[in-house]
Amino acid sequence: MRMSGRHFLQIPGPSNCPTPVLAALAKPTIDHRGPEFRALIEGLLPKVAGIFATKNPVVIFPSSGTGAWEAALVNTLSPGDRILMYETGWFAKLWSDLAERLGLLPEVIRGDWRGGADPAAIAARLKADHAHEIKAVCVVHNETSTGAVTSVPQIRAAIDEAEHSSLLLVDTISSLGSLDYRHDEWGVDVTISGSQKGLMLPPGISFNAVSDRALDASGAASHMRSYWDWAPIIEANEKGLFPYTPNTNLLQALDVALNLMLEEGLAAIRERHSYAGAATRAAVRHWGLELQCVDEAAQSDVLTAVRLPEGHSADDLRETVLARSNMSLGSGLGQLTDKVFRMGHLGDFNLPQILGMIAAVELGLTEQQIPFRPGATEAALQELLSIGH
Ligand SMILES: *Cc1c(COP(=O)(O)O)cnc(C)c1O
Repeated sequence: MRMSGRHFLQIPGPSNCPTPVLAALAKPTIDHRGPEFRALIEGLLPKVAGIFATKNPVVIFPSSGTGAWEAALVNTLSPGDRILMYETGWFAKLWSDLAERLGLLPEVIRGDWRGGADPAAIAARLKADHAHEIKAVCVVHNETSTGAVTSVPQIRAAIDEAEHSSLLLVDTISSLGSLDYRHDEWGVDVTISGSQKGLMLPPGISFNAVSDRALDASGAASHMRSYWDWAPIIEANEKGLFPYTPNTNLLQALDVALNLMLEEGLAAIRERHSYAGAATRAAVRHWGLELQCVDEAAQSDVLTAVRLPEGHSADDLRETVLARSNMSLGSGLGQLTDKVFRMGHLGDFNLPQILGMIAAVELGLTEQQIPFRPGATEAALQELLSIGH
């Protein structure tokens, strides 16, 4: 059945791609060993490093974010290594499951999925590890299943306070570009990211930004690796090459996306996300519904996860919103399946789109007979006016 009007992709990634990015994808594939590609890579790598705020190399993989999770682990660790992971939600859990399958020994601090990683719990565990058996601390910066942000500087401070030698590995797959992030300044050893969230590209590119300590660790780490090995990629990149066929068309589009981001300005992008987050949370509070993230300081400006009252189905609500308003909302993941729906506000969007999203959800809440207080678009508008937009 034809649906009139545009489709609203309001899931927290993959996000909407701007037209110039889509146009770049439609350009002919180029020779990945030719001068045009070399010029592309020479211009692209410094811009990529800029987004991570690092002076060190950023390794690019032709994969989804999951590949970059694996790459971060197999390049820095050896089989049987103990690592400390904090379960902030579904994505943190997937990462620890992956680590276990790789033969590492993840020790998981289980959070309640309603806030960020607790630096005090991490410091306490590291202090008790007198033999420094824990080789890496792994956290997710923006937990996309719950809408909670972990303070990376606080996690760094926890490791330093414990005077522990562990590496710090951070997943920024859904935060890079959209939230403040500083790989070098915050003392992160490996930053993992992906193309399809804040960077406004389709899925298919992932990243590892690496510190000097991570590079040193990769020299000593004995985990089996081939496709994900940093060293041949970093070496080939110096000549504008990759050791295997890179996804040329996505890299052409990445260059365009980064140019758009630099043109808008990273500070302006973050401000736009913070306005969208504040407006969306104001709407949820007006409805009288509960935010999944209960820590005020940890609220994500990338997405808002909303709990429905007992006895109501979040998946039925999402189905109604899709059928009635041609709008996709994010589903609840893992233990939050059918209990939570997620509104994405990341990447390429403007504020009228956010107000449209709130209105469409309100129509869906009415149709599903979920108890709520109507009028949240006005509440969101007032929030935007009060923060001076
Ligand atoms: C989307 C996402 C992932 C998963 O990446 P894939 O591209 O699906 O492999 C991992 N971590 C976080 C925080 C994410 O938002």
